[in-house]
Amino acid sequence: MTRTQHVVLKELGFRYDPSNLYQQTIHAVLDAAETLELPHHLQLILAQPKTEIMVHFPVRMDHGHFQLFKGYRVQHNNILGPYKGGMRYHPDVSLDHVKSLAVLMTMKCSLVRLPMGGAKGGVQADPRKLSRDELMRMTRRFTSALAGNISPDHDIPAPDVGTNAQVMAWMADTYMNMVDIEHRHRAQSVVTGKPMEFGGSAGRDKATGQGLVYVLDQMIPELGLKFEQTTYSLIGFGNVGSWTGRLLAMRGAKLRCVMDHTGAIRNERGIDTVALGLHVEKAGGVAGFGMAEAITEEQFYSEKVDLFIPAALEQMVTLDKARMIDCKALVEAANAPTTPPAQRHLREHGVTVLPAILCNAGGVTVSYFEWKQNRQAESWSLERVDHDLRAHMSAAAQRVKLAAHRYGTDLSHAAYIAALEQIGRVYQLRGIFP
Ligand code: NAD
Repeated sequence: MTRTQHVVLKELGFRYDPSNLYQQTIHAVLDAAETLELPHHLQLILAQPKTEIMVHFPVRMDHGHFQLFKGYRVQHNNILGPYKGGMRYHPDVSLDHVKSLAVLMTMKCSLVRLPMGGAKGGVQADPRKLSRDELMRMTRRFTSALAGNISPDHDIPAPDVGTNAQVMAWMADTYMNMVDIEHRHRAQSVVTGKPMEFGGSAGRDKATGQGLVYVLDQMIPELGLKFEQTTYSLIGFGNVGSWTGRLLAMRGAKLRCVMDHTGAIRNERGIDTVALGLHVEKAGGVAGFGMAEAITEEQFYSEKVDLFIPAALEQMVTLDKARMIDCKALVEAANAPTTPPAQRHLREHGVTVLPAILCNAGGVTVSYFEWKQNRQAESWSLERVDHDLRAHMSAAAQRVKLAAHRYGTDLSHAAYIAALEQIGRVYQLRGIFP
């Protein structure tokens, strides 16, 4: 930790804890802020979210009893525009976790130059253990608890781990029923990632994977790779992992191994990503897939591949896992999947780490397109969405490469620099009220 970071965090009353995800995230931001020599007051502002909301709400379960749930919405920064960020349903959702993810949203929106700020939220619950009706009632009650703090002009949630287009449809419908009649239809844009039939955008489901492939288009030649000869491993085969897999398969890359919460599998000749997707839909995970062999976690991490792509949860690639990994580049599809010691180890061993705030920004970019379409009562073609997504992702990748070159630094530090350049400029122009 550098002296200024220590001063900023100490000034805010933090007790130093290097294993805390929020402190790790803020350290990365403050490191870049120091490189850019951002004023101290901006570092203070960015080191804490503007708003942290915690709600407790009861839900009637199918057997008639009531269960109390805990939900969060953290709004980190809105200097660039309305808050934007996903809603997660997972048993491990906590305030610090949501705060970290909200900071990453601020950085991501800025890096891809969207007129949006950063937020994140979620409910501490396991959606796999809820019936469809329980999930709907929990979503509606959570949305009503937050209704005074979200709006199409203020804070616009989206899907994340454990939520999907159906959950977004319930959120939008609940919110639309709570606003005045003259605002009802405009209120649909309170969330993005909705189903196509109900204001969703073409290409939103595949957006994060597609954005990652567009980033790789810019990065892969420098790694000395060609898609057709590239092998890769994936952690996670949910929204991000499965779309990344299917889209990379279309470019000719070969998926060697996949691991998810049910187990790990390998096929030396390449895993059929479409067939695996159908299997996961039925079985709930990759375990038991007939066209691959089951392997251990150690075998999964040790498999030699060109790209290692974590697309599941945060902090899964720890130092001991990084020591097993044998790849040219680690592509962060999930948010903060690599701990700082693991990142250091990988870099020291010549592995390029492509940062999450660049690699997975495709999701929020197409969410922004959806919000724009809703507000203009338009429906764009998939070709237009893909074209505009490619433009945003390619420009962001170039921005990161340029910052890495200009400041002689790694791509992760460079990505935060490129994000903060924009935020710093806007703060300078707007000043601090009053
Ligand atoms: P998802 O719920 O669709 O999938 C999560 C995947 O993680 C599943 O395959 C699950 O099996 C796997 N997983 C869970 N626990 C695991 C464990 N212990 N070991 C191995 N695998 C495990 O979620 P998603 O939407 O694909 O999100 C994945 C990551 O990408 C998250 O970090 C999320 O914040 C980030 N992200 C998602 C989007 C989006 O548009 N969905 C956008 C940007 C970033």
